[in-house]
Amino acid sequence: RMEVGKLRTGCEEFDELMGGGIETQSITEMYGEFGSGKTQIAHQLAVNTQLPKEMGGLDGSVIIIDTENTFRPERIEHMVAGLSHKFEQDFDPAEFLKNIHVARAYNSNHQILLVDAATEMANKLKNTDKPVRLVIVDSLTAHFRAEYVGRGTLADRQQKLNKHLHDLQRFGDLNNASVIVTNQVMSKPDAFFGDPTRPIGGHILGHTATFRLYIRKSKGDKRIVKLVDSPCLPDGEAVACITTDGLCD
Ligand code: ADP
Ligand code: MG
Repeated sequence: RMEVGKLRTGCEEFDELMGGGIETQSITEMYGEFGSGKTQIAHQLAVNTQLPKEMGGLDGSVIIIDTENTFRPERIEHMVAGLSHKFEQDFDPAEFLKNIHVARAYNSNHQILLVDAATEMANKLKNTDKPVRLVIVDSLTAHFRAEYVGRGTLADRQQKLNKHLHDLQRFGDLNNASVIVTNQVMSKPDAFFGDPTRPIGGHILGHTATFRLYIRKSKGDKRIVKLVDSPCLPDGEAVACITTDGLCD
């Protein structure tokens, strides 16, 4: 077993909440309402992963499985400019974009298959100077939620999601990579999905994701990140800001 890496977020409180950063060889689930900032944080982690370790990165490249077509190259450029300010160094946005491999997933089966494609890509990059150190699935649950409707299909949906998460955990283990998945929750109690603070995929996801983060909007550009039911860290909250330059204290 390789030594677990820690990916810093750009926000000190957030890093402390996570015991120093987002761990490799683990799945970290971010759940929250639409607009809470899950995709923005994912973009920031896709940038930070590429930094050298002394700057809080993992010195690696990134794979994004994009199911909602929400990847924005220009946000990566903004965030790289933000890092150039922060570290007083000229980072090249084009270089960062080159190391982010984005695949659109058109349905849940395709999404599952893309983990195999990711494994192939990771094998190719394994002995380069930028091995894959982060895989993002944004959103983990959107296709599943749209395709599996009605009570009779629930068990099937959970079984597929379970397999998918198992594949992702394996990817993280084999590549010493972090795995980030996002999961949207409803703002109001929902007759079918129930408690709004419990994400769909509910208990199954609860047991699989090693770290579960509930993200919610606060005043202005502030976001509250809450660590929920961690097996090894105390529950707690951190305040982070999402600005044009990216995630910060
Ligand atoms: P989610 O994925 O949780 O639905 P997003 O990550 O897409 O939510 O968050 C969208 C929010 O992020 C916007 O409402 C805005 O507050 C913030 N945001 C998006 N782009 C920028 C930007 N360029 N500068 C500052 N904040 C931004
Ligand atoms: Mg999103």
